[in-house]
Amino acid sequence: MAINLEAMRAKLNASKNGGKPTGKTSTMWKPKAGDQHVRILPTADGDPFREFHFHYNVGKNPGIYCNKRNDGGECPICDFASKLWRDGVENDDTTLKNEAKKLFARKRYYSPVLVRGAESEGVKIWAYGKTAYETLLGYVLDPDYGDITDPETGTDIKLTYSIPGTPGSFPKTTLQPRRRPSVLCDDAIADCQELLDSVPDIDNLFDVKTTEQVQEMLDSYLSSDSSAESSSSETTQYKQPNGSVDEAFAAFMSEN
Ligand SMILES: [Zn+2]
Repeated sequence: MAINLEAMRAKLNASKNGGKPTGKTSTMWKPKAGDQHVRILPTADGDPFREFHFHYNVGKNPGIYCNKRNDGGECPICDFASKLWRDGVENDDTTLKNEAKKLFARKRYYSPVLVRGAESEGVKIWAYGKTAYETLLGYVLDPDYGDITDPETGTDIKLTYSIPGTPGSFPKTTLQPRRRPSVLCDDAIADCQELLDSVPDIDNLFDVKTTEQVQEMLDSYLSSDSSAESSSSETTQYKQPNGSVDEAFAAFMSEN
């Protein structure tokens, strides 16, 4: 039997990618400036609005998945930030307290979506901030909308993404449910069951680092004397944990 080259290529890529299957970066979706319509899909665990914690501001690193806040493991950045905070409080040192605040883990929210007009690209994962999260939960709990993710009786959401022209300000996401409920998909769009089955397990999307790796990232950040410079990089675009470019931090800042 001939070797399956396609499978070997996937294995090699997965290995280079730190053991993660490839193709995951392309599942992340980022809104474009202006209006778009999305449909949030239900997930197997019954919770399509998932919350995760990341550390931003650790040098030029993209958001670092926090093993402590997410999974109850160890996190050198959390430990360091807590220590810094205590020192700041004890010594009434605002600079220390601010540095600690910068390093605390921040929340980011994730949902599987079908982007209207791009249904053929399949299910994507949309990352958003606290304001959008609370707005979405509000719809679900509002009897006028109910379960907006229901494939038969759910509701599409209009998402308006505004990118400000002025440096230092952050993009803004506004949501508006459609006036009428609609089906997730009809036969003209896709096989609905296939779509539902293809919803990725969000827990597996992140590049989880070992405690040692996180310690190394923290050490290298602390040993660089450019921490003042890094702290001003809040206005730069941050990358998603798995490498796809996103304004995760910028969006987070705009919504908190
Ligand atoms: Zn942490």
